Amino acid sequence: MFDPQEIEAVSRLLAVPRKIVLAAHKNPDGDTIGASLAMMHFLRQKGHEVSAIVPNVFPGYYNWLPGAKEILVFDRNARAVRKVLAEGQLLFCLDFNSLERTGNMAPDLKKFTGKKIVIDHHPGPSDEFDHYFSVVEASSTGELLFELIEALGDKSLLGQEEALALYTCIMTDTGSFSYNCNHGRTYHIVAELIDRGVDAAKVHEMVYDTYSENRLRLLGFALSSRLLVWYDLHTAVIYLTKNDLRKYHYEVGDTEGLVNYGLSMEKINLAVLLTEKDNQIRISFRSKGNFSVNRLASDFFNGGGHKNASGGNTKTGMEETIRKLKDVLQLFKDELDYTVSF
Ligand code: 5GP
Ligand code: MN
Repeated sequence: MFDPQEIEAVSRLLAVPRKIVLAAHKNPDGDTIGASLAMMHFLRQKGHEVSAIVPNVFPGYYNWLPGAKEILVFDRNARAVRKVLAEGQLLFCLDFNSLERTGNMAPDLKKFTGKKIVIDHHPGPSDEFDHYFSVVEASSTGELLFELIEALGDKSLLGQEEALALYTCIMTDTGSFSYNCNHGRTYHIVAELIDRGVDAAKVHEMVYDTYSENRLRLLGFALSSRLLVWYDLHTAVIYLTKNDLRKYHYEVGDTEGLVNYGLSMEKINLAVLLTEKDNQIRISFRSKGNFSVNRLASDFFNGGGHKNASGGNTKTGMEETIRKLKDVLQLFKDELDYTVSF
């Protein structure tokens, strides 16, 4: 799974107490937050001084994770983040493949003088790191972190706090075990996490059954009034304008998972969510089967991601973005015309 020399190198770096910084990607999700927190608890047990940093605010439904309140948010407190980066000796980059993915925080990470270690499952990691634990086939960064802890011979340090965080990584990055989860190894790891005190139903409830009324009504509005279905392109698009978000008192995390509803229709192979935020349109792509949304996002929409889940953005308005999307998809019309079957 990992290069033994990389394991040896990291083992040596962790052999004496260090000041360690853990970095998450922009618009943090359950995997990057869970991996940061699992790593934080694990490294503290090994005697290190650990700080976790994120570029911008993460959804409130991860606040219950042990340690979540300690995470420093660059957008809110750049000074505190810069201080830990200036003092840090090691930087772990969790769940992203290039420093650019940390948005406004990227220039500060680029200036970091200690060793940078990446643990991630996105394709094509950049050359900015000193040590690589990069495996595209892994369900999540959390799964890789479990493997790394095991490879370091430290499985005995995996307690309930680490297990809760790692389980959250795997659950959220597989859509509750509905994609990216066709390797038996994932379930063996999940079994080990549950044996360490994870209540799987409870974690699911904390993450998915904690909607506000506004969020649920926004979902209803999006599906009834903001859904476009392009049957000839096997594509469903949901778009939400700034006004829509304001009307439903949008809070960070409220549109998470919304894109998947498009994909729940039969004959739809591509689902797109467009949200107008900070004078740009944020784009989420999801696909069924073989169609690669990573390519679509990186070649046309200034983004990237995985084969079946990617994201990007445009600087043009909503109408222009919808027009561009429809134009670009004409190029993929034949590729999008397939039936997922057994
Ligand atoms: P989401 O649609 O949930 O925001 O993102 C889905 C996937 O695409 C995630 O794996 C995320 O890391 C990746 N992704 C989202 N936005 C971007 C982006 O702007 N650039 C790149 N390279 N990846 C992105
Ligand atoms: Mn991930």
